[in-house]
Amino acid sequence: MIEAVLPKERRPQERINDFGEVVSTYSEEEALKEAKRCFQCSNPPCILGCPVGIDIKRFIYQITQKDYQGAYFTIREKNNFPSICGRICPAEYQCRKACILTKKGLSFASEQAINIHFLERFIGDWGIENRIDVLQNKNEKISKFKVAVVGSGPAGLCCAGELARAGVKVVVFEGLHKLGGVLRYGIPSFRLSPQILDREIDYLAKLGVEFVTNCIIGKTKSLDELFIEGFHKIFLGLGAGVPSFLGIAGENLCNIYSANEFLTRINLMCAYNFPQFHTPINVGRNIVVIGGGNTAMDAARSALRLQKINGISPNVTVLYRRTEVEMPARRLEIEHAKEEGVNFRFLVQPKEFIGDENGFVKKLICLECKLREPDSSGRRRPVEIEDSEFEVKCDLVIVAIGLLANQILTKVTPQLKTDKYKDVVVDTETMQTSIRNVYAGGDIVGGEGTVIEAMGMAKKAATHIITGLKRE
Ligand SMILES: Cc1cc2nc3c(=O)[nH]c(=O)nc-3n(C[C@H](O)[C@H](O)[C@H](O)COP(=O)(O)OP(=O)(O)OC[C@H]3O[C@@H](n4cnc5c(N)ncnc54)[C@H](O)[C@@H]3O)c2cc1C
Repeated sequence: MIEAVLPKERRPQERINDFGEVVSTYSEEEALKEAKRCFQCSNPPCILGCPVGIDIKRFIYQITQKDYQGAYFTIREKNNFPSICGRICPAEYQCRKACILTKKGLSFASEQAINIHFLERFIGDWGIENRIDVLQNKNEKISKFKVAVVGSGPAGLCCAGELARAGVKVVVFEGLHKLGGVLRYGIPSFRLSPQILDREIDYLAKLGVEFVTNCIIGKTKSLDELFIEGFHKIFLGLGAGVPSFLGIAGENLCNIYSANEFLTRINLMCAYNFPQFHTPINVGRNIVVIGGGNTAMDAARSALRLQKINGISPNVTVLYRRTEVEMPARRLEIEHAKEEGVNFRFLVQPKEFIGDENGFVKKLICLECKLREPDSSGRRRPVEIEDSEFEVKCDLVIVAIGLLANQILTKVTPQLKTDKYKDVVVDTETMQTSIRNVYAGGDIVGGEGTVIEAMGMAKKAATHIITGLKRE
């Protein structure tokens, strides 16, 4: 069996000094070598593992034939943003896990599984370098209609792209001053360079999509006002932007951040470049990150870089209440965090923060845990061990334990039905909400998910919006 080909990576000692990308795109030679490892199964399971059903077998075959343009179009049939997904999709839990080279029964892909995401990235970047744009598939009949898209994360951008390609006039309304949602303010540039995101947004602008920033729907204007302005349909891609907290004593002490705030200060407001940029950020000597998902890994790796940039000897510890096996973060991010020097402590439940006389956090009291039978998430449930208290010294804490729906719009729109988590309820066949002509997708439907899942829902909504407009 030919060994899997891995792309080049910057050395940990070098990359922790800046926010530049860590993983390189495959060279042509590497991509060809990896593509040729694919068995071209007659019944390829990987396609079923992809939330948007990319014809993986076909695009990999096209790579082996050096038909890169063909491969680009194959991917773009199903995925609007291959360069983005090729960088951040949790492929080890999706297409790669389904690859026949993954051993049965594993909870994530074997190392031998084809590196589908790296091949997708190679093709996506090839498309960008060669300025290949997917042509519009305009339908004149529907070009008189206008659709408002609320939110410019992957769900909103994907829906806008699908509609614009069909010839619909689209305006995207974004509450923040920059476009991209989590792709801009959450995921650090060492994983996803903002230039890649800008290129995808430029492409949408070229298709005629209009963008309005600093406009919060539900505050600046209501859904009714959008209809009065002449929008025929509305898509809501509001995301899940509200951080969860632990709800333990001392959580309001100074220098305890939500991961969202911490990452937004760095990624969106360039706090690592203070005072050139006017957003300060505190950097402690002993940093603790609580959580085990992608957000926790991003926060820990960003914090470590901030310490290096500020001349502080890195000391970042991730505390997680289960074990490494149950961590929901991408395996690559966990490996990268370890290589960069992030410490991990598993089976730990925070109990109380203790502050100093000025109200700044100085230590965290924790309890050790053990794992019991699986809970509703399918992962083994952690239970605290009595009398197992211990202390962790910290002068900066980042809480990364999950995100909830933002209720700015839903609170002022009672007709918009939400569930017990305050997520928007949709008809899963059409993605239409309880309000006629209002659709939704992404993290605002069903909670925190992945970029490709958000795009899958947005695509489905766009298909139904287009079908509806054709009938009008
Ligand atoms: C730090 C972090 C790392 C992640 N890493 C990965 C990863 O590696 N791989 C992966 O697949 N997924 C990852 N995820 C999850 C992924 O980013 C989300 O699933 C995805 O971004 C959801 O897309 P969305 O469009 O639904 O929402 P978002 O990306 O949250 O975008 C929603 C947008 O809507 C705007 N908005 C909200 N309300 C309004 C309003 N009322 N008016 C106007 N605008 C509004 C927001 O400002 C935001 O820009 C990560 C998430 C985080 C937080």
